[in-house]
Amino acid sequence: MGDHLDDLDPEQLAAVTAPRGPVCVLAGAGTGKTRTITRRIAHLVDQGQVNPDQVLAVTFTARAAGEMRSRLRALGIGSAGSSAGVQAQTFHAAALRQLRYFWPRAVGNTRWELMDSKLPLVGRAARRARLDTSTESLRDLASEIEWAKASLIGPSGYAQAAARAGRDLPAPADDVAKVFAGYEAAKISEDGDRLFDFDDLLIFTTQILLDDAGIADEFRSRYRCFVVDEYQDVTPVQQGLLKAWLGDRDDLTVVGDANQTIYTFAGARAEYLLNFSREYPDAQVVRLVRDYRSTPEVVDLANRVIGAARGRAAGTRLELVGQRPSGPRPRFAEYPDEPAEAAAAVAEIAALIADGVPASEIAVLYRVNAQSQVYEQALTEAQIPYQVRGGDAFFARTEIRQALREVSAAARADDPPSGPDLVESLRALLFPLGLTPDEPSGAEARSRWASLTALIELAEELLGHNPELGMRELATELVSRSQAGHPPTMRGVTLSSLHAAKGLEWDAVFLVGLTDGAVPISHAIDASPDAVEEERRLFYVGVTRAREHLRLSWALSRNEGGRRGRRKSRFLNGLLPTCERCSSTLIGARALRTGICDSCSGDRRPATGTTTRRSTTTMPLAPADAELFDALREWRSAEANRQEKPAYTVFADKTLREIATDRPADLGQLQRVSGIGPAKLERYGDAVVAIVAKAADG
Ligand code: ATP
Ligand code: MG
Repeated sequence: MGDHLDDLDPEQLAAVTAPRGPVCVLAGAGTGKTRTITRRIAHLVDQGQVNPDQVLAVTFTARAAGEMRSRLRALGIGSAGSSAGVQAQTFHAAALRQLRYFWPRAVGNTRWELMDSKLPLVGRAARRARLDTSTESLRDLASEIEWAKASLIGPSGYAQAAARAGRDLPAPADDVAKVFAGYEAAKISEDGDRLFDFDDLLIFTTQILLDDAGIADEFRSRYRCFVVDEYQDVTPVQQGLLKAWLGDRDDLTVVGDANQTIYTFAGARAEYLLNFSREYPDAQVVRLVRDYRSTPEVVDLANRVIGAARGRAAGTRLELVGQRPSGPRPRFAEYPDEPAEAAAAVAEIAALIADGVPASEIAVLYRVNAQSQVYEQALTEAQIPYQVRGGDAFFARTEIRQALREVSAAARADDPPSGPDLVESLRALLFPLGLTPDEPSGAEARSRWASLTALIELAEELLGHNPELGMRELATELVSRSQAGHPPTMRGVTLSSLHAAKGLEWDAVFLVGLTDGAVPISHAIDASPDAVEEERRLFYVGVTRAREHLRLSWALSRNEGGRRGRRKSRFLNGLLPTCERCSSTLIGARALRTGICDSCSGDRRPATGTTTRRSTTTMPLAPADAELFDALREWRSAEANRQEKPAYTVFADKTLREIATDRPADLGQLQRVSGIGPAKLERYGDAVVAIVAKAADG
């Protein structure tokens, strides 16, 4: 297991080695909070202070819990498959397990079942209340019910609480309360059987622990040490469960960053984190400021983003200090429309991959899941593998559903394979579903192949931790992952919402779609300044995911050839780079690309009409080609000035683009570029070839 202390800084060391009891790590992004708690658990186990299976580590998303599990496994103390070890789970998964175990004893014969979705029952209640029953409206009503339940508010208290919280309501508060009450009633059948939603798991588990002393004793002798990551996002109902777990004990370590609170709209309250030492006066409170994740360039931008924040959380921020060597400056880019933005991002992704950055170390992050589509398409066209994070996309895939059925069937066989044979048997099962020995061609077949390969890699990983792993354990692991929405890691570029990216990190991050209305999202703008602050924190979460390469972009319209209708995000104000020559803020696509403002470049902007036509009928250039293109345009504008003629009479943009991508090495090659006749060749040929050669040298 080894020593888990030698590469910690003094503050991290203090948190890791603090005696059992309340500990609170309050620190910014990338300072090693998650690392600190996994090390702390490992250290307590090493010291014999606690058994691994007495530790319950919780967090909020299945992905974050998965991340914690893999870090714990790497330290040799995680649980894998069915083997014992530290439990790292979401609040919901932990409660689900406990409820399954304790329910029969606590409640007896009535049965319960977890609902897939609350929409059907909400729909029934909404119809009865004569409200709009469109999917969108039902989703909004369901969100209100979720917020209320997470906040420990029942139907009778809803209207008042919603007014106090300034909720953006889908219907009059009394009507929402009526739907809420109808929904709660509909979950209980005539013979008393129950349907549970996710919040019910927490509510009933808490209730059982509070009501039944015998069960509470059994639970508390089993789990003795509690750890919560991302504690800024805890809701009152989760906090209630945590308290019920603890009883009158205080063996609790929490870590969080109030400036990354991004679930207030769903009931999260950073106050539990910020008031921790009031709740536990003996708590050891540790603050970390060294950012080990990101380059100083990324850290500087992150500090500026959160520096503009307002409110209580903002008052607790500490300026991050970057620890890594310097790297490239974050880049900003503007596009006429989303397809152009996506094409340019994908061209840069291809360039990074060609430069040796693994695809799995690259992420594209956006505000709402619907934004992924244009990137999925562009990546597919470029034949770059990707995975979509957040949601159950992986387990909803046809080949994966088939694979789960095959694995479950094989697990029920008399003597299911295990140990060294497992992977070969699995391959044989998956072969008919598309797992050919070599990666096939064709986008569909490739993506099927990639997801099946992820299953093989997961089995291999689990085998590494439990050499006896069998088909049965594998089937259980897959089912629990599919219930928890925790897909295996796939090689390939990650596409993720900003929310689902919390806690994670990549070498290269593309923050896309940064327009006002997306980041901050329009309903936050309509709701309140607090809601806009939450969006700012979400933006901060996005910026701080990047280790080295960070690129921020936005598009002025949604569709190709669309009219400009959007503006760049207000959060970009004060962040954009300045002109290399005159230090004025760079505005507009061209200036951002060249680093020189329009007035210094001396090239008058073409009329708006031409911009739209040019940029929507041509693919964006790869970065190196764009640089050459700009160099050629600079030369052209100087030449045009000298002759006192319009620039296009020297060369058309189209010709310069072709030169930038074809890179003719001599006059013979230049002659083949369309738009270059003998006169132009004689007049400008040498100059153009020299610029191309210079670009190759640089
Ligand atoms: P977030 O707020 O985004 O969840 P965090 O505070 O949990 O961030 P971690 O994910 O634990 O940060 O750590 C960020 C990165 O820095 C990880 O790659 C981690 O391995 C690395 N790191 C943390 N502490 C150190 C250290 N003392 N020395 C070297 N690397 C470190
Ligand atoms: Mg973390």
